[in-house]
Amino acid sequence: HLDRIAAVDGDVHAFLHVGAEAALASATLVDESLAAGTAPASALAGVPLALKDVLTTTDMPTTVGSKILEGWRPPYDATVTSKLRAAGITILGKTNMDEFAMGSSTEYSAYGPTRNPWDLDRIPGGSGGGSAAALAAFEAPLAIGTDTGGSIRQPAAMTGTVGVKPTYGGVSRYGLVACASSLDQAGPCARTVLDAALLHEIIGGHDPMDSTSIDAPVPAVVEAARLGAKGDLSGVRVGVVRELTGEGYQAGVQENFDAALRELEKLGAEVVEVSAPHFQYGLAAYYLILPSEVSSNLARFDAMRYGLRVDKGASAEEVMAATREAGFGPEVKRRIILGTYALSSGYYDAYYGQAQKVRTLIGRDFAAAFAQADVLVSPTAPTTAFPIGDKVDDPLAMYLNDLATIPTNLAGTAAMSVPSGVAAEDGLPTGLQIMAPALGEAVMYRVGAAYE
Ligand code: GLN
Repeated sequence: HLDRIAAVDGDVHAFLHVGAEAALASATLVDESLAAGTAPASALAGVPLALKDVLTTTDMPTTVGSKILEGWRPPYDATVTSKLRAAGITILGKTNMDEFAMGSSTEYSAYGPTRNPWDLDRIPGGSGGGSAAALAAFEAPLAIGTDTGGSIRQPAAMTGTVGVKPTYGGVSRYGLVACASSLDQAGPCARTVLDAALLHEIIGGHDPMDSTSIDAPVPAVVEAARLGAKGDLSGVRVGVVRELTGEGYQAGVQENFDAALRELEKLGAEVVEVSAPHFQYGLAAYYLILPSEVSSNLARFDAMRYGLRVDKGASAEEVMAATREAGFGPEVKRRIILGTYALSSGYYDAYYGQAQKVRTLIGRDFAAAFAQADVLVSPTAPTTAFPIGDKVDDPLAMYLNDLATIPTNLAGTAAMSVPSGVAAEDGLPTGLQIMAPALGEAVMYRVGAAYE
């Protein structure tokens, strides 16, 4: 994999940092312990992985795609990082991302865009475009992403790979540099559903270091994926969300989705239509809640504690302003300003308060829909991968790409994207989104493995 990275990453730019020496040392250690019979009891011992640069690592930089953390070495490993290491997984390096995980194309990285291995003139999705591209370019067989509004699933759809956003609280956020704390969730990325399941069981589980971590066993997703692979979905009810199809979806995306429904029926599933009337307000609510949390979380980058410091001016305030001006990119600044506005005393009720009410209604829509179906399905993204530069100056067009993925984050439920073929008009990959109730990952993996 290091050879493959050396050969193709100059074009793809999936990685911000490759830890070749550390990776070889770790792989050698696992090899030796496998030979000696003392290796960790893990199905993935010795398998290399690409880690999104938003999870802290003591032996590699963690930039979160931002100049403000350039050169920063975290003093501790994220819980996800520690769990990977304990399972004998070799971390190859850190992958590119939109700055602070805000974006849908990886073009907002301060270190330049990642290119889609299917067509180097196109984006790989975002914010976790680096992790998805690393899989699609065969630079790594496994990766970790984080999903705040779709950043695992949408890149998976656009690169023909598998990406899972676990139930909120299912994977520890300790050491995950915060974007929006009530929405952020780390999860597995892979080229098959079973690989994702094996990785999910390693990174999942309760962590006392994360106060929102769920104290419950990790759903038995490996067993579920193996069951699904047998190809029998009889007794499973699949709900098509009426509000997440039709208008606004590219023709080839919609065609592949319709074909997926026929395939699920062939596998024995019962396909029903469900309605989630408040999903149409999801995007608006998300783009108020997320910036509000961002405006608070990113206050810690004050030039005193981490990374960049621009020593301009005589007071702490001046140094802080100069550092934030130089260290944050335009999208990050836009969201901080939006969030500060939405939280200001005169507007709080009209914007943030109202958005939180919508969030509750979306949760109720999910509850009602899951009373009628075991999983819900939709296309993962409304379009295939768009050309680099296409939407970078049009934030609203960029936000629209998250239409189908956002409701899951607002509700804290689980969802995955599995490849659903290529669109007839452009030959680019599309994804089927499978959504499940909180801690309902098992049935989601079963359906995903049966379908893939
Ligand atoms: N595209 C979404 C945003 O820009 C999702 C980001 C994410 O999931 N990290 O906020």
